[in-house]
Amino acid sequence: MKIEAEKWKAEIERDLAAAADEIALQQVKARYLGRKGVLTSLLKEMGGLSPNERPLLGQVINELKQGMEEGFSRRLAEIKRQKELEELEAEGIDITLPGRWRAMGRSHPVTQVLEEVVDIFTSLGFQVADGPEVELDYYNFEALNIPKDHPARDMQDTFYISEEVVLRTHTSPVQVRTMEHQRPPVRIICPGKVYRCDADISHTPMFHQVEGLLVDRGVTFADLKGTLEAFVHLMFGRDTRLRFRPSFFPFTEPSAEVDIECVICSGEGCRVCSYGGWLEILGAGMVDPAVYAFVHYDPEEFTGFAFGLGIERIAMLKYGINDIRLFFENDLRFLEQF
Ligand SMILES: [Zn+2]
Repeated sequence: MKIEAEKWKAEIERDLAAAADEIALQQVKARYLGRKGVLTSLLKEMGGLSPNERPLLGQVINELKQGMEEGFSRRLAEIKRQKELEELEAEGIDITLPGRWRAMGRSHPVTQVLEEVVDIFTSLGFQVADGPEVELDYYNFEALNIPKDHPARDMQDTFYISEEVVLRTHTSPVQVRTMEHQRPPVRIICPGKVYRCDADISHTPMFHQVEGLLVDRGVTFADLKGTLEAFVHLMFGRDTRLRFRPSFFPFTEPSAEVDIECVICSGEGCRVCSYGGWLEILGAGMVDPAVYAFVHYDPEEFTGFAFGLGIERIAMLKYGINDIRLFFENDLRFLEQF
């Protein structure tokens, strides 16, 4: 008995390809592999063959069976895929159209700078402290040595929820709240949103601040200078010079405004620094002993320093932005540059 393997193979392939749907395909499979199928019958006939012929023929038939199984799976997948395509087409979905891309988001430039500032101070050993934006007048003003009739209140006019509840004008209330619950050493920074009744090219009613506070035994103005110098060097580069000018804040004594050498003109004088060569970036000072009275620290035992800086201000200097309002207009042409 002889089997023309190639002829059978071609026939199987032709039959599989001709099957238009799953039912027809199953029928083709049954015709070859079923109980009375062609290949099954051939195997049965092998019984009458000589022992020499048997293995050879068996191998040929098995290969044909295997080819049949593989061809069946392949054709079945094709039929299913075709069916899906037809269904999608019936629904009016054209899968050959390009996909709709979701635009990639990124952090707002203010967030980027805020995170950078926080990273620098946490690397210097400060911990991040958080507090409410809607704050009691007591924590925002009084406990910071700014009584109700104090003229410093005019510099920080805010939004009143009620007579005793305000939107915080700085993150300093977090310092008071932390000191109420913690004995020195205290080493914290307080990043967050603050509010003031202000709106022009360099002020917005809401902006971001990071304040720092360090209280311990034997803390001096030199520690404050060293800390701020380290910060400025990490933020604006190692060669950036800074200077301290005497100033006044109700909650620090002595107080200082800190300037850095203009990052645009390196001190030569330009429009950004009003031709003075210096840019004001933050306020700082030694914590006024009067503040310790509110949190029951002994001013004979502990000293400390505090500083505060505006994040938008830092971002404007870092990127050379001349109008603070650009940060909040949500114009993608601006935001996409960061
Ligand atoms: Zn300049």
